[in-house]
Amino acid sequence: MKPLYDLGVLPVRYRTGKGFKPHISLTFNAEKNLTFAIDTTNSSLSPDSYLITHAHSDHNGKSVMHSERAVCSEETARALEILYGKKYAGRTFKVGDTIDIAGVKVNTYPTHHTIGSTAFFWENEVGTRILVTGDVKDAKDLPKCDLLVTEANYGDYDDPNCHFQDDISGFREAVKEYDGIALGAYAFGKAQRAVRLLRESGYYGMIGMDPASLALTEGLMDNAGQLCGLDGDCGIRIAALANLPAIQATKKFLLTCRRDYKVPTISISDHMDVNGLIGMVEQCAPQAVIVYHPGGHRPVKLAAYLNKMGVYSRALTQINNCIEI
Ligand SMILES: [Zn+2]
Repeated sequence: MKPLYDLGVLPVRYRTGKGFKPHISLTFNAEKNLTFAIDTTNSSLSPDSYLITHAHSDHNGKSVMHSERAVCSEETARALEILYGKKYAGRTFKVGDTIDIAGVKVNTYPTHHTIGSTAFFWENEVGTRILVTGDVKDAKDLPKCDLLVTEANYGDYDDPNCHFQDDISGFREAVKEYDGIALGAYAFGKAQRAVRLLRESGYYGMIGMDPASLALTEGLMDNAGQLCGLDGDCGIRIAALANLPAIQATKKFLLTCRRDYKVPTISISDHMDVNGLIGMVEQCAPQAVIVYHPGGHRPVKLAAYLNKMGVYSRALTQINNCIEI
């Protein structure tokens, strides 16, 4: 761990009797010793802050939204409240704001993954610039840094499934009749992206949505246009995959870059492919990378690729600093 030691950052994983807690915490000096937990679950150790990059369930906002030490964007907090029907107890900011967390100046940047998704950036006492991205759809707004803590949802260069591009023209072609169409999409993230793409494609009519997608879209989008429930009078419906079979429609498509579904798919992702991830690393030009998400083998694969590029990289499973709690 020499490079991280030189950078003055100690990445830590917490472990209980049940196993590792998800994701990672970063301990560093900034006048005093501080720990920022990244997308982790609530812990009795009470870090100085729980940073929540976005409201997808695998980033654990549900667990830490009750803590006054939680920090996330206004939209992420609203999404968590809609998703879990509970009050968010932490602090919020507008994406792009600079905020003070435990005396540290933290810049925030959009990652274009979901509405409200945020990257966090700060410097420690020795001037190391730390950037934590969460999931990223577009890295164009991210700054240069010394330590990049990022994701590898599609991080395996040797896997053809990790190479894709959004098929916007295919999307427009598929929906152009604007009638009898059902689109399968995750309620948070993909469903709002689908609404935006439909509006950008020139469809201004009613869009029917399942209850969760409808609540999130109404709660998070200012310019969603006319929306209704799935049984409303509408030409286009958007629903979670599980609800798709029950919908009456002449054409059904799933919005995904995955290739393991029987329903016809349109390649629309909330993520970058592996080339996007590598491009982000080149753009941010870090001295070291920690790939902290998701589970499975892809973080190790991306870290191996980046190491070959000459960038010191470790996946979460290769980080051995562990605190038993
Ligand atoms: Zn996500």
